[in-house]
Amino acid sequence: MERIAADIAVLGGGEAGLAAVVRASEMGARVVVVERAAQLGGACVFTGTLPSKVFSISAGVYELLRKIANFGIKAEGGFALDYKEVLASRTRITRCDQGVIGAHLRGPNVRIVRGEASLRDERHLLVRTPTGAEIEVEAPRLVLATGSRPFPVPGLPTDGRALLSTDELVDMPELPARMVIIGAGVIGCEYAFIFRTFGVEITLIEKLEHALPGQDGDIVAVIEKEMKRRGIRFLPGTMVRNYETGPDGRPAVTTGQGERIASDKVLVCVGRAPATAGLGLEAAGIALGAKGQVLADDRLRTSLPGVYAAGDVLGRWMLSATGILEGAVAAENALGGDRLLDERFVPSGIYTQPEIGSVGMTEEAAVAGGRAVIVGTCAYSGLVKACATYSFMPGLIKMIFDRGSHRLLGAHLVGSEAAELIHQLSLALRLGATAEDFAFSIYHHPSLSEGFREAARDALAKMK
Ligand SMILES: Cc1cc2nc3c(=O)[nH]c(=O)nc-3n(C[C@H](O)[C@H](O)[C@H](O)COP(=O)(O)OP(=O)(O)OC[C@H]3O[C@@H](n4cnc5c(N)ncnc54)[C@H](O)[C@@H]3O)c2cc1C
Repeated sequence: MERIAADIAVLGGGEAGLAAVVRASEMGARVVVVERAAQLGGACVFTGTLPSKVFSISAGVYELLRKIANFGIKAEGGFALDYKEVLASRTRITRCDQGVIGAHLRGPNVRIVRGEASLRDERHLLVRTPTGAEIEVEAPRLVLATGSRPFPVPGLPTDGRALLSTDELVDMPELPARMVIIGAGVIGCEYAFIFRTFGVEITLIEKLEHALPGQDGDIVAVIEKEMKRRGIRFLPGTMVRNYETGPDGRPAVTTGQGERIASDKVLVCVGRAPATAGLGLEAAGIALGAKGQVLADDRLRTSLPGVYAAGDVLGRWMLSATGILEGAVAAENALGGDRLLDERFVPSGIYTQPEIGSVGMTEEAAVAGGRAVIVGTCAYSGLVKACATYSFMPGLIKMIFDRGSHRLLGAHLVGSEAAELIHQLSLALRLGATAEDFAFSIYHHPSLSEGFREAARDALAKMK
């Protein structure tokens, strides 16, 4: 058996694992990364973040073209969606991202091992390569970054043809006429807007009373209204009771209320589960939580000394965004650092149409936590930049301030560019900004960011 020694081994070459590799290599360590897939990048590059955002960007451009007359431009020759080209652009952008990954990993101290790994003990990984050979990787430090997989729903065994997981959806070769989406969380809502814009008839089924659980109620209200306006059939408070395929192979679901909804594709978007099965983690002494997630402390140490974890396998935020920080922190601490993971102000971006950006407490959570709050709002219709560019989309900025200190507690945006704008609010939260800071700062005019001044002024007026 071949044996490879390193200072640190990283199990999993997704976004979190790669961030760990880059940080460890920057610190001068000899790194081995083990990945079973033919290429590095994981869910972010191949099935999750990137493909869904490529689709979302195409949908956004398509939507904008429909409103092109608003900008004084005639498109008399017309335009049409070419779904095959959308898929091709995904392939191009994936290649581009892989180039970026490759550039980061170039270096004499990084070694990539292809194969399926399991843990022997805290210092050894056993890797089975695609040819059946075995390799032992020995390293005094290990970062676990094996990611997650679509949550399997009993009675809904995805087959990649009629009943799809989000992993399978990205390779769907043609647009269906009708699609049922089960689950109106972030991913279900994103895909509902994308495919509706592409012309697909969408039914979105959610067991809870509202879409996007955890998001601020006022923001969700804008999205639900927009779903209706765009013709997405949204069925809140609805369970799927039965799934079947007809003799023609087309799927149908029956709801708890007894309605049978025939479709061409059914997409299951009910969340993801940490990928920890079969790795030998518990046998090696690594504590797992109830959902199978690796338990780790605020420095990303697991219960087994020398072993750290990062990314979806932790079952926390399940975002590339957080995985990138976690990977770097895990590697740094594994190699003798003492960096605390600070995930207090995670900016969340949801690529519905319009987008959502949010950070910090929702109004509901602040009030439930006993905080006295003042809420300031600004509609996009009150911003001249939005009127000039995005008048066809609704938009709302909502900022929640502590009544006593006037400090920002949370901010929630729905509207064009919300997922970009939210970063400045994440930084403001971190720096402890107050309503006065927003009200008396200078903003470029005309800009969407002026809405922060207006929302803060609205809040200050209510504080008098
Ligand atoms: C549809 C969708 C849209 C998303 N959109 C966003 C978004 O807009 N923004 C955002 O921040 N996040 C988004 N996410 C989430 C994001 O994709 C994930 O959080 C992120 O990719 C997880 O990275 P990871 O490195 O933790 O895990 P993964 O990317 O899953 O990587 C784990 C790697 O480990 C490998 N592996 C696992 N087990 C073994 C083993 N035994 N041996 C060898 N290799 C192994 C896997 O092959 C994989 O490559 C989205 C997810 C989905 C599904």
